[in-house]
Amino acid sequence: MTKKILELLPTELTNYLISIGEKEYRAKQIFNWIYNKRSSDFNEMTSLSENLRERLNSDFSFNLPIIEQKSISQDGTTKYLLSLADDAKIEMVLIPNEKKNTLCISSQVGCFRKCEFCATATLEFTRNLETYEIIAQVFLAINELKETKLTNLVFMGMGEPLDNFDNLVKAINIMQHDLCFNFSPRRITVSTSGVVPKITDLADTGLKIKLAVSLNSANQTKREELMPISKKYPLTELKKALIDFRKKASYRITLEYVMIKDFNIGKEDANALIKFMGDISCKLNLIKWNAVNGLKYEAPSGNEVERFRKLMNVQKSAVTFRRSRGEDIEAACGQLAAKNVH
Ligand code: SF4
Repeated sequence: MTKKILELLPTELTNYLISIGEKEYRAKQIFNWIYNKRSSDFNEMTSLSENLRERLNSDFSFNLPIIEQKSISQDGTTKYLLSLADDAKIEMVLIPNEKKNTLCISSQVGCFRKCEFCATATLEFTRNLETYEIIAQVFLAINELKETKLTNLVFMGMGEPLDNFDNLVKAINIMQHDLCFNFSPRRITVSTSGVVPKITDLADTGLKIKLAVSLNSANQTKREELMPISKKYPLTELKKALIDFRKKASYRITLEYVMIKDFNIGKEDANALIKFMGDISCKLNLIKWNAVNGLKYEAPSGNEVERFRKLMNVQKSAVTFRRSRGEDIEAACGQLAAKNVH
């Protein structure tokens, strides 16, 4: 089986080139073709010798996913249904904004964390994405944007990224490398449901990224109901891991809080949240939950959202309200479910 060129770091490609008797500088040329000229065809790489191109063709493949479907929201958000080499389906979402273009990346096919509010949880967990399948999403998104720059990457698509730890870390290293995509660390956010030991491992890698935690309730009983992972890693352990993470990390942590009608937006919920945020250097991102067919929860009204925002006003400087994008095409937070999975 051929190796995947999109999961190589420059040092790895250099070692390969030396092993076949080629010069080291060829690695730079090849990465320039892939990451600057956006080529996914070795035959196009005319600065390489014909022999080397033939050798690359026989040893490596790109295996880019096929874009099966593209849904464009009224607000410009675009959801892509991608088909992988084994016919597994994932989704990625491009969210344009005035100053930035954000790609929401998937890390797994399905997800086994089974959060009650999430459409992805309704799918069977099939497998982790390989590093090259994560990188390929960025590659495709940059090609789709053409002359417009892709500025931000968020691991908030299908799957729990920290359950695919090694491939995630390798992919981020490739994303940040100056010979590859050269993304600034503050432009990459990893969002987790709270896999406590992996939060610690992530801090220990020394990798610079932004961390977001999908919290959704600071009440242990309610969080367990909403997110079964909280039975294994309770809020007390999560909080400790976040405080430790923050000591080693460069950026403030973001707590994501999806507001659900009659569930997590009362006064007691606000008080529990304020207490939880207390000793963590963090920001809070409030998001109105989007209804998902077949799930038991309801979206709150505008007034209910406003009331909860006011209850959280004591933490004013740290609280933001994120409007969900792409709701009409089911590309908003928690709505990704690769509808055409077969
Ligand atoms: S919210 Fe995230 S971790 Fe939870 S089921 Fe959905 S994709 Fe998995």
